[in-house]
Amino acid sequence: MDQCTHYFGAGPAALPAEVKQQIQKDIILYADTGVSILELSHRSEQFSSIISSAQSLLRDLYVVPDNYQIIFMAGGATIQFDAVALNLVGDAKHASYLDTGFWSRKSANLASKYVDIKFVQGLEDNHRNICCIEPEQWNVDPETAYLHVTPNETINGVEFIQVKEMDVPVVADLTSCILMQDIDISNYGAVYAGVQKSLGIAGLSVVIIRDDLLDRVSEKTPDLLRYDLHVKENSIVNTCPVFACYVTQLMLDWVTRNGGVKMMVEQANMRAKLLYQAVDSNPKFVNNVCENNRSVINVAFNSSDKKVIENLLAAATKQGLIGLQGHRKAGGVRASMYNGTPMSVVQTLAELIELA
Ligand code: PMP
Repeated sequence: MDQCTHYFGAGPAALPAEVKQQIQKDIILYADTGVSILELSHRSEQFSSIISSAQSLLRDLYVVPDNYQIIFMAGGATIQFDAVALNLVGDAKHASYLDTGFWSRKSANLASKYVDIKFVQGLEDNHRNICCIEPEQWNVDPETAYLHVTPNETINGVEFIQVKEMDVPVVADLTSCILMQDIDISNYGAVYAGVQKSLGIAGLSVVIIRDDLLDRVSEKTPDLLRYDLHVKENSIVNTCPVFACYVTQLMLDWVTRNGGVKMMVEQANMRAKLLYQAVDSNPKFVNNVCENNRSVINVAFNSSDKKVIENLLAAATKQGLIGLQGHRKAGGVRASMYNGTPMSVVQTLAELIELA
């Protein structure tokens, strides 16, 4: 297939065209190094500059307070499901997880190898997909190590933005919403994200963690999962994913030049408004997430008639709009609209949904 008009995949996801053009140049020769970015040493001065620049851009974009550290780690978000428990449980007997859907359940499941899990909001018995998130109903034991939340559930398109004040550290999986939700980092003990959606390519995660939580690490934690060691070694514990860090630095620079978090949130809201209006206007489609919790990043909907979905996907492909199939566990359609998604392609998709 020739270059598509737009790729709506959930991740790895569309990168802005200018970022891809820069990568193309740097693959041949990176700055004045004499080598390709693919060959750059993780011990080089230039790579240290990439890491420092990425840290300082992210610190500015999310107004990260001085008592928080920013680290980059090999592996995506799933490895963080283990890392969070290994690094943050300390002496506590249990950790709490808000069950909002597939990813929060998976994070709890992996953490349960190390610690007892308590679910909040009382959904653990039936594991139905949550459509309304009600923070006032969260019942969190003050003795718990932390409360883990997933502010954007990528598969079902469920989101919430504000966490209420807690006596325990809140840890958030921001994989599918980092820099696309306006959050106050000081409300969290730690946040982490696989960067392959709105901030780069697969194989890397970023962690932002408050200093006072760095001494809880379990001694059996592998070095490559230790937050304290990554802080000490400034994210260069071993031959780290140089290329993935470099792309993240480019993306952070791109977000900064394009209006920062405020603009990313504004554009996400505009894209989502257009699509949900189209979905709601066509009685063949359903989205049963309650209005306040509809994700502005992953818009997922279905139809009782399989043929309607097939026809819509086919019509979209004809226009060069691909990657719209719903997650294999959910079916239907899912439009994942990260920072590299232009409004024009969302407009085209909205028209197709209205006409379906
Ligand atoms: N958390 C969320 C919210 C996700 O959307 C995903 C991937 N779609 C993951 C975790 C897992 O990420 P990874 O594939 O990088 O392990």
